[in-house]
Amino acid sequence: MSDFVPDNAAEIPSTPYAKQIATHLGQDHIDRLTQIFVDIGVAQWLEQYPFSRLELTQNVIYDNRLASGVYSYKTGILKIATTRAKSEYGYPFRWQSIYSVSSTGETQFQATQRTLVHELGHHLHAILARMDMEFFMETTRAVILRGGTTYSKNNQLEYFAETFALYVFYPTELLVKDGFGYGMIESALERVGLEVKQQ
Ligand SMILES: [Zn+2]
Repeated sequence: MSDFVPDNAAEIPSTPYAKQIATHLGQDHIDRLTQIFVDIGVAQWLEQYPFSRLELTQNVIYDNRLASGVYSYKTGILKIATTRAKSEYGYPFRWQSIYSVSSTGETQFQATQRTLVHELGHHLHAILARMDMEFFMETTRAVILRGGTTYSKNNQLEYFAETFALYVFYPTELLVKDGFGYGMIESALERVGLEVKQQ
């Protein structure tokens, strides 16, 4: 029936940062998680360039393995895991001695927020590709051995996303240890018209 309205219509969650959302979480929980986008000053930009879909589920499987998050450059769909094993977070930041920026989150909640920021890095990278393909291609040729986290050395896409997260959460360390990466993120932000509040 075309005039069908579910009784729980008010409970269907939404977010200004994605065109669609699918999740087991309540609105309040989603708002608290995505507050990180407000905190780092990207909320307005993200409303202008939203993820095509945000899926927040307890676990995310990618390539037959559990993943903290997955982003598709092709579709703009983002999947985020809302649960983490104890071994995946709570590490003090030390340059090139941590797995990922997300692993420096003090709690499961903070680790999830840091994954959101990492994935935002992929998303702005994808938008950069649309706006300035030449510069995007340059970023895909970066030397990744200089990356500040283990995960950033996987490939150039992860180097970009992790370096973005470092730019947000550990800007001084990034500037000192990987000036190239710092400059790469600054140039990318300028090209996509985004200003970030470093933490
Ligand atoms: Zn990634």
